[in-house]
Amino acid sequence: MTTPWLSKFFPPEVFACVTNRSINFALPKKGKPFGQKQKRFLSSLFSKTDVPIINVRQVHGRRIVTATPRYLKKGKIVEADGVITNVLNLPIAVRTADCLSVFIFDPKKKAIGLVHAGWKGTKKKIVPHAVRLMQRKFGSRLKDLKIAFGPSIRPCCYQVGKDFQKYFPKDVVHKPSGLCLDLPLANQRQLTALGISKKNIFDCELCTFCGPGFFSFRREGEKAGRMISLLMLRG
Ligand SMILES: [Zn+2]
Repeated sequence: MTTPWLSKFFPPEVFACVTNRSINFALPKKGKPFGQKQKRFLSSLFSKTDVPIINVRQVHGRRIVTATPRYLKKGKIVEADGVITNVLNLPIAVRTADCLSVFIFDPKKKAIGLVHAGWKGTKKKIVPHAVRLMQRKFGSRLKDLKIAFGPSIRPCCYQVGKDFQKYFPKDVVHKPSGLCLDLPLANQRQLTALGISKKNIFDCELCTFCGPGFFSFRREGEKAGRMISLLMLRG
């Protein structure tokens, strides 16, 4: 599984990918983070068995976990919507089906972050929060960061209620059929407002609702599967 647009944007020292509908990566309600089929997929992806991966139980909040070897030892899956780390060869993961996955890489301090940003997380400014945490914990500088947006539902398909005009006044699109939210644009604006240059932000521009090969919560409802986004610094 390769995601060419991610491997093109990031240098070879970064491993980054997003899966598609060929495998459902929904996090089991209880117990282990991966089922047998998912484990086999990951083993072939990383060419080794039992790859330790940092997982979170996503709750559309604002909490970001800092993954350390000690954190990994605890083996617990905590409720959070993003992970940052500077540990080499330690993959971090978020799962999506319409929400945006945001990949952050600091080539100078050798640190990464991966965030799950739906409209609720975006309203809570979770991505700028992750960036500030990387500044605080790893000494990251805004001008060094490279940020990529994964597939998500987009303004072509993301019809929302009137309330969203209040939440995202600059990121809603008015159409004859109603209001649509531009979720990636909302996140991009939050990042540029923080001081990150637009040229350091890459958007794959893929829509999970109308594009082929993705799971979409809007389209499929509760039974929708999940794509997994993975990010790792190679040692
Ligand atoms: Zn669409």
